[in-house]
Amino acid sequence: MKTFEFTRPADVNGAITNAAHARTAQQGAEVRFIGGGTTLVDLMKLNVETPTHLLDLNRLPLDKIELTLDGGLKVGATVRNSDLANHSAIRRDYPVLSQAILNGASAQLRNMATTAGNLLQRTRCMYFRDTAMPCNKREPGTGCPAITGANRTLAVLGTSEHCIASHPSDMCVAMAALEATIHVQGPKGSRTIPFADFHLLPGNTPNRETVLEPGDLITHVTLPAPIKGSKQLYLKLRDRASYEFALASAAVVISVAGGNVSRAWIALGGVGAKPWRSHEAEGALVGQPADKTTFRKAAEAAMRDAKPQSQNGFKIELAKRCLTHALQMAITS
Ligand SMILES: Cc1cc2nc3c(=O)[nH]c(=O)nc-3n(C[C@H](O)[C@H](O)[C@H](O)COP(=O)(O)OP(=O)(O)OC[C@H]3O[C@@H](n4cnc5c(N)ncnc54)[C@H](O)[C@@H]3O)c2cc1C
Ligand code: SF4
Repeated sequence: MKTFEFTRPADVNGAITNAAHARTAQQGAEVRFIGGGTTLVDLMKLNVETPTHLLDLNRLPLDKIELTLDGGLKVGATVRNSDLANHSAIRRDYPVLSQAILNGASAQLRNMATTAGNLLQRTRCMYFRDTAMPCNKREPGTGCPAITGANRTLAVLGTSEHCIASHPSDMCVAMAALEATIHVQGPKGSRTIPFADFHLLPGNTPNRETVLEPGDLITHVTLPAPIKGSKQLYLKLRDRASYEFALASAAVVISVAGGNVSRAWIALGGVGAKPWRSHEAEGALVGQPADKTTFRKAAEAAMRDAKPQSQNGFKIELAKRCLTHALQMAITS
């Protein structure tokens, strides 16, 4: 690991001013905020991230979960994943989020990991994590060995000819379905970013993963008011039962009236280049009987544009079964 300066800014503005000096907020950033460090320190040990300056956010007053005026919740950037998953309002009103977080990593990691850090965790593509290998995400223009190499765990939706990495977060899949909003304070002031607009698809610039600019600090995330009477569920399929990333996962929020689906919010994990909201699945569900035939049709719609690579074609059927089963489980829960 290279040497770096470590400071604990006393307030949000100090943190932003310091970070604003960086050339980029993306891969290669010289200045990085640090929350739990479970992504960043890992990647620094591998020399994938080489910041010269770390700004520790843990003393800033960003660790609260509070009710908002519209009946939703405000979740501070440094709220630990464990605290979020186990908060009474989250368990009661947003169970899909609690389940998604508790399906990720391990208890020890969740005790350290923060809300903002989880939003910004990096892909587990093995070439990205190995500086002896080329990788367009780590070093633009060097190529993507995963396309002809080990791609079993990588994405089938939203990929490009330059990168097929999958987004690894469980929490983000639930937040995509819940239509969370990300609140950022930066050198030019504050702004809000709808969850769907926060992560970027790889396209020609896989090194650019989010819309964040130098100095942009995520201060909190808001969840809209809970959807009364909705059924919610997160289902994660993986190679082993714990401490493993998703091969396919589904976050479902669904309302049923008179036997028909009246409203649905669907997101998929493990298969997308970013947390994958599926409006296609939602369109195939709403107004239709809440039964297995409809659920399978929704899953087919969700995966219609999937593009398999040499080793990960199995994910397409796996994701379909995952979503179908998640919907079935949700309405009977
Ligand atoms: C062995 C292992 C297994 C795992 N398994 C899973 C899994 O199954 N599912 C899953 O979802 N995740 C898993 N994870 C990933 C884990 O959830 C993330 O590492 C964690 O959520 C990152 O949070 P953090 O606070 O530690 O981030 P950090 O490492 O502190 O930061 C990550 C990034 O976010 C930036 N950042 C942090 N806070 C802010 C802020 N407020 N504003 C702007 N930028 C910020 C940092 O600069 C850094 O670039 C696993 C991790 C490990 C090590
Ligand atoms: S899939 Fe993306 S992260 Fe993996 S090697 Fe290719 S460019 Fe790098």
